[in-house]
Amino acid sequence: MAVVCPECGEHNPDGAKLCGMCGIVLSHVAPPSPHASPPPAPSSYFPPPRPAATPYREPAAEIADNVSSGLDAISFIAGLFGGD
Ligand SMILES: [Zn+2]
Repeated sequence: MAVVCPECGEHNPDGAKLCGMCGIVLSHVAPPSPHASPPPAPSSYFPPPRPAATPYREPAAEIADNVSSGLDAISFIAGLFGGD
């Protein structure tokens, strides 16, 4: 990969420090070194976002629902037997 001189447009050999045509310093236009800091890789360390679709439900509410449906069932059965 040639180093193109920003001044005169001369294509210099890869790694050239000076332009072979006009002699300016080419170090600032040299391709980045492979030892340069790597680009930030996507991190898999972050935990997944907390699902917010499930609203928090108090255990007491669950119990109340169970008791309520239980009473409904009892009422239903009592109705079947025509309790007096
Ligand atoms: Zn040049």
